Amino acid sequence: MSIDPRRLLGLAFASADLLVEIRDGKIDMALGAAQRIIGQSETALTGQVWRDLFAAEDQPLIDAILACADDGARRGPIVLRLSGPVERYISLVIRALPENKDRVSCAVTPGRPASPRGEDSGLHARESFDDIAKGLFEAARVTGLELELAMIEFSGLADKRAGLPKAEADALDLQVAGAVRAESHGGGAATRLSEDRFAVLRAKDDDPDTLMRRLGRVVSMDVEAHVVSLEARATPARALRALRYALDDFLREGLKDTPPMTLSEAMNRSVKRTLARAGALGVAVTQRRFDLAFQPVVSLATGLAHHHEVLVRFEDGASPFAMIRMAEEFDLIEELDHAIVEKSVQRLVQDRTGDLKLAVNVSGRTIVNESFVDHVSRTLARYDQAKGRLIFEITESAAIDDLPRANAHIQSLRAMGSMVCLDDFGSGSASFAYLQQLSLDIVKIDGRYVRELAESGRDGAMVRRLVELCKDLKIRTVAEMVETIEVEEVVRDAGVDFAQGWLFGKPADQPRPALKPGAIVKPLARRAGASESWG
Ligand code: C2E
Ligand code: CA
Ligand code: CA
Repeated sequence: MSIDPRRLLGLAFASADLLVEIRDGKIDMALGAAQRIIGQSETALTGQVWRDLFAAEDQPLIDAILACADDGARRGPIVLRLSGPVERYISLVIRALPENKDRVSCAVTPGRPASPRGEDSGLHARESFDDIAKGLFEAARVTGLELELAMIEFSGLADKRAGLPKAEADALDLQVAGAVRAESHGGGAATRLSEDRFAVLRAKDDDPDTLMRRLGRVVSMDVEAHVVSLEARATPARALRALRYALDDFLREGLKDTPPMTLSEAMNRSVKRTLARAGALGVAVTQRRFDLAFQPVVSLATGLAHHHEVLVRFEDGASPFAMIRMAEEFDLIEELDHAIVEKSVQRLVQDRTGDLKLAVNVSGRTIVNESFVDHVSRTLARYDQAKGRLIFEITESAAIDDLPRANAHIQSLRAMGSMVCLDDFGSGSASFAYLQQLSLDIVKIDGRYVRELAESGRDGAMVRRLVELCKDLKIRTVAEMVETIEVEEVVRDAGVDFAQGWLFGKPADQPRPALKPGAIVKPLARRAGASESWG
């Protein structure tokens, strides 16, 4: 076989073990360790249809690359699965030779996917995309690889699919997925965000216009792409969370505004808004620009407030839920949780009666850090009056990633005289593991179960079972979101110890004595002669 030396150029662009040349979709020449890498000899490979060497899910990706190879751009490395029952991957760098545009040159090395494969189309679900992104950010930091996020929209893809018979719609999906993956770093860092939208992590090499043109050629549809460059200097975890937050904002707010926005205007707005909100939240946290609201948690035996839950309120006075989520994503939550402990302790010190007890919410992210325990310990050392009057509610909004560590910290808090409560019990799948691995004083049954009692007239069997379980573990229980007397009765009958909700008092700017609506409660409270007042 005689080869034009210029065609060996292909071998130079990567330290390839095998060089393959494709002409009209067929292998024209194979040179190198074919047997080792592909499992067939050089001669056996020659003449075969190139796409047939690959697993079905990767064939659309090969099609997409070959369809656009004549633009001369270098593509890859891309990791692809070979066909056949044994899981075997190769990594490709692909390029049309400058002087022979009908020939595509592939430099092949053994490959390994960066993470387990996604669904049939090879696209990743959002969660595993996060993992891949994490790996890429890490690699980018070490190697100096510059990364960018491309948001891609195929206008009218959903409509087009809807008008097709199922088999054709599925084929179109695979074709689009292949085209999108071909644009991603390693061929795997891509995810579908909605019917028409995709997110792709790619090396910052060619400009977005080229990317749009290529995609448009493969799927013959209008394509819009918007590119956001990602700072390699930020820590990978932080960059990733910011990225995820901006993606969520983009999906939520998307293009729904009038006048209609282009994709890139919408994405720009999401990124800008995310950064502005994170900035404002950062200022609110560092300058302590927030207030506390207090909601009574009553003992169902006496009808008196046992303690009050502290709920943060930012300037808008609205539910802080979105801000808390954001604080968690942007690593601000620990500082916020510390600040709320400080303010709560100051409030306890002001309390003239000495009866007030406050439950502070602590994010699952905060509790795994040693510094929270240190902070509480230092604060309590300074304000002796607050000892034994601070309760901690561990919220499950952010999953606890290290239960043994969290438990060690919980035990330190308990040793300092604080009760510890697990919030939102039953809302997440991790709850039972939490109960097994954390030693706690109180469990707060998620409001969803409690409200269901009112809505469906259920008999409270689920709540009853949770209570039994907690009793076995010597843990007391709280029912939250109790809004009616009927629900109060059901939870009391179920053996719940404490209740909280609008029935007893909404969150207010001062801790107020609980309202005492329940039928049995009034005489009990009177008999005890108890009076509640905090000020
Ligand atoms: P959570 O800890 O489960 O707090 C209970 C939420 O239910 C509060 O909403 C409260 O206002 C609301 N609520 C109380 N009683 C009733 C009722 O009878 N019916 C209904 N429908 N709602 C009731 P809020 O204040 O908007 O807080 C939302 C979430 O934000 C909290 O859920 C908690 O996860 C988080 N959060 C609030 N304050 C803080 C804080 O200071 N630190 C941390 N880390 N998280 C906080
Ligand atoms: Ca709570
Ligand atoms: Ca809750």
